[in-house]
Amino acid sequence: GVEISDLRKSYGSNEVLKGISLDVRPGEVVCLIGPSGSGKSTLLRCVNLLEKPNGGTIHVGGFEATDPEVNLDKMRQNVGMVFQQFNLFPHLTVLENCTVAQIKVLKRDKAKAHATAKLNLERVGLGDFGGRYPDELSGGQQQRVAIARALSMEPTLMLFDEPTSALDPETVGEVLAIMKKLAREGMTMLVVTHEMAFAKEVADRVVFMDGGVVVEEGVAAEVIGNPQQPRTQDFLRRVL
Ligand code: ATP
Ligand code: MG
Repeated sequence: GVEISDLRKSYGSNEVLKGISLDVRPGEVVCLIGPSGSGKSTLLRCVNLLEKPNGGTIHVGGFEATDPEVNLDKMRQNVGMVFQQFNLFPHLTVLENCTVAQIKVLKRDKAKAHATAKLNLERVGLGDFGGRYPDELSGGQQQRVAIARALSMEPTLMLFDEPTSALDPETVGEVLAIMKKLAREGMTMLVVTHEMAFAKEVADRVVFMDGGVVVEEGVAAEVIGNPQQPRTQDFLRRVL
């Protein structure tokens, strides 16, 4: 899981995260929702230290991410990240996309890396696609490769930042289905999404952020179906 406490992040004089506290317990799925610019991506990027927080603490997989002495590589191995843009390496095959970090970062031998990649490609329904290149796949398939690549590092936490926002409508469902399967298998997940039906069905909890603070959080069906705060009500009226 991950424990975030009083997290602060500024860009110059612009304070984007104003003391965020948020936990995802092992095996839990938390969906993070909120308007554009509320700080959702910044929060996710702080969790694996793609951004350096200005204050607060983050504990993830037995590491204190915010400890200046932390081993960044080891800490990041715990955290898989899937972005809106799939960021696959275009010159590598699907299988190679899923093995390169295992070999370079985890120092796995080729055979072990291939076996792990194959297993995770099968998990996302792409067991037969290892020899293809990214541009030979649909957007939905590419995003499933990105998920398999992240899973191949065997993270204890998966972060998703609007993983279906860049997809054609007809391929959104296949990616959401894989995420739902991962959730059922007990993966710990923090998911930024605009897919309210997914959040309601799959998330254990929903956290609504606005203006760099957590405005409301609770059981998914409660927050989405019966929001208490005016800002949450207003946001949901606009997106539902
Ligand atoms: P969206 O729903 O549009 O993805 P978001 O909730 O993910 O929005 P962030 O991307 O976290 O929002 O941005 C929060 C604020 O931080 C915005 O005002 C944005 O302009 C600012 N910001 C984000 N990244 C940077 C950066 N690298 N440098 C300066 N400002 C930034
Ligand atoms: Mg964002």
